[in-house]
Amino acid sequence: MDCQRCTKEAIISLPYGPHHFCQEHFEYFFEKRVRNITRIHEFFEEGEKIAIAVSGGKDSVVALNLIRRIMPRHEIVGISIDEGIDGYRNKAIDEALKNYKALDIDYKIIKYEKEIGNSMQEIVQKTHMQGWKENSCTFCGVFRRKYINQAALEMGADKLVTGHNLDDEVQSICMNFFTDNLERLARLGPRIQMERIPGFVPRVKPLYTSPEEEVELFAQLKNYPHYNDRCCPFSHGADRNIYRMMVDMMEAKKPGTKNGIIRSFLNLKPHLQNIPAQGKFQPCQVCGDLTSQATCQACVFESRIKGVGKLPQLLSPEQINAMAKSPQTSGLPMYTE
Ligand code: SF4
Ligand SMILES: [Zn+2]
Ligand SMILES: [Zn+2]
Repeated sequence: MDCQRCTKEAIISLPYGPHHFCQEHFEYFFEKRVRNITRIHEFFEEGEKIAIAVSGGKDSVVALNLIRRIMPRHEIVGISIDEGIDGYRNKAIDEALKNYKALDIDYKIIKYEKEIGNSMQEIVQKTHMQGWKENSCTFCGVFRRKYINQAALEMGADKLVTGHNLDDEVQSICMNFFTDNLERLARLGPRIQMERIPGFVPRVKPLYTSPEEEVELFAQLKNYPHYNDRCCPFSHGADRNIYRMMVDMMEAKKPGTKNGIIRSFLNLKPHLQNIPAQGKFQPCQVCGDLTSQATCQACVFESRIKGVGKLPQLLSPEQINAMAKSPQTSGLPMYTE
């Protein structure tokens, strides 16, 4: 099949258009979509310093490279979080470093082990030993948000770019809608906390309208170094996986469903702004970060994790996962110092 813009052979067909593009015109289409959302939602103002959260995966690496191209006059810095997951994040961070170097970008790496006193591997082990109901990603996500925001503040950033793509956003919309979490639903969108609350760096998502598969193809065609070998070994229990399967199935049966969910959500969003707790923040009584509760969720989790004390030994992700599947897990003794 030919490209719809020239006579070359198409390398990709996008069923929701439908669109058929050769490499050159796919890259043009993809970049233009990112430029459009950046302009329409007025992500950046003149002279702002931009921090980009870079995990080393395809999404953040594409966001980093494209924002560097689209906003050539802005100062850009990178932030990478090392959760401490052997054989996974260390490899992804190596890829992030290659991009920082190629683009000559200053960066900061934050390690959970240093900040919280435990790597994610230890946190997951403690979670399973204690039989806590939260899955690993709940802890990990709360800590990541806190430490990325803190790093962005320390680096003097005016905006924080994250690599959330269309699939991530559609899954989050469904997850919060189906579980009646309207407060969280109201906080979603391509730009977050733009009203400049002191202590929060406003977050923007240039890949908000870019489907995951297209992000991966774009990263490959552009030869951006990125980590794609395996998923996080602790991601299997995430609720998000259920919504991913559901939405992917709907998109396969009815192309354009994901775009439709995003459009409906953006039309609905202005009507969600009066939901209680929106914008009511106070300093956390433990760490001083802004929170809608007396103590921020990160501090609550941190004290629970520290309360378990030292682990007798550090297990590999595979051993931890085997333990999680074992029927004796909930009967394991509490480990305290
Ligand atoms: S999949 Fe979950 S545990 Fe793994 S890095 Fe992501 S949030 Fe953390
Ligand atoms: Zn073409
Ligand atoms: Zn706190």
